[in-house]
Amino acid sequence: AKAAGRNTVRFFDPVMQAAVATHAELAKEIRQGLQRHEFVLHYQVQMDTQGQCIGAEALVRWNHSVRGLVTPAHFIPLAEETGMILPLGQWVLEAACRQLLEWGRHRATAQWTLAVNVSASQLAQPNFVDSVATALRTTGAPPHLLKMELTESMLVNDVEDLIVKMGAVQAMGVKFSLDDFGTGYSSLSYLKRLPLSQLKIDQSFVRDVLTDPSDAVIARTIVALGHSLGLAVLAEGVETAEQRDFLAEIGCDAFQGYFFGRPIPALTLAATLALAPH
Ligand code: C2E
Ligand code: CA
Ligand code: CA
Ligand code: CA
Repeated sequence: AKAAGRNTVRFFDPVMQAAVATHAELAKEIRQGLQRHEFVLHYQVQMDTQGQCIGAEALVRWNHSVRGLVTPAHFIPLAEETGMILPLGQWVLEAACRQLLEWGRHRATAQWTLAVNVSASQLAQPNFVDSVATALRTTGAPPHLLKMELTESMLVNDVEDLIVKMGAVQAMGVKFSLDDFGTGYSSLSYLKRLPLSQLKIDQSFVRDVLTDPSDAVIARTIVALGHSLGLAVLAEGVETAEQRDFLAEIGCDAFQGYFFGRPIPALTLAATLALAPH
């Protein structure tokens, strides 16, 4: 395992993972990464139909001393399998809250919402509500500017438990968005019972929305469904002006994607926006 650990590609290749490192070793690697402050958040802007920036999504990266910047696809599944998603997820939440507080000092960002991805296993923890309260209390971040992105896959297990926890966190002022919408198996009857404020149309429908009529139908249907439930609808993975224009025409309220900007470090974002304090 030692020799394999030096092999950067294999180590993080999910297919090879069983052959090169045990779960315990991978968990240790992530724990050390946390201790060494190797994880960073990058931020991708979210825009409204007027072209105004209305917020950002925090996306985690592992700034590994040997392997360089590692994207989440290479470690989130491992973190999920080893349980390390719990301390990592708590770090993400607290780091995002600290950033929110920092942004609150700037006129341009004072009203932004910051979205963080929350995994199913985080929500399944009995102390989930407490851990959110702790992150908000210890950082002093304004809860109403925080948004949690959940995925449909969370809706297969204990939905009643989920509704109770989401309700408690919503009562603190935090908002919820349903990510990757359309790719999962959520029952529409649950959708109206969850305290959501937003649906995110998955990028797999956005990619060919101009050329594939069935993707266009799906996008329209998600917009209609979201609006009929009183939810805002954000399209993700928007890469061209033509996609943005079409999605705006069918009623999307917000957009995110490379057309507006890639995920970038907080300081780069601040420089791009020439942020000045109040
Ligand atoms: P996601 O939540 O669906 O995030 C959107 C992903 O699409 C991001 O990939 C983003 O960089 C990418 N993206 C944004 N705009 C475009 C575009 O126009 N075109 C294309 N092709 N891609 C675009 P990223 O950062 O690699 O993250 C991948 C996934 O990892 C995320 O998907 C999310 O499921 C997970 N993830 C990221 N950060 C966290 C985290 O802090 N916690 C947890 N639990 N999961 C996370
Ligand atoms: Ca997301
Ligand atoms: Ca997504
Ligand atoms: Ca996704």
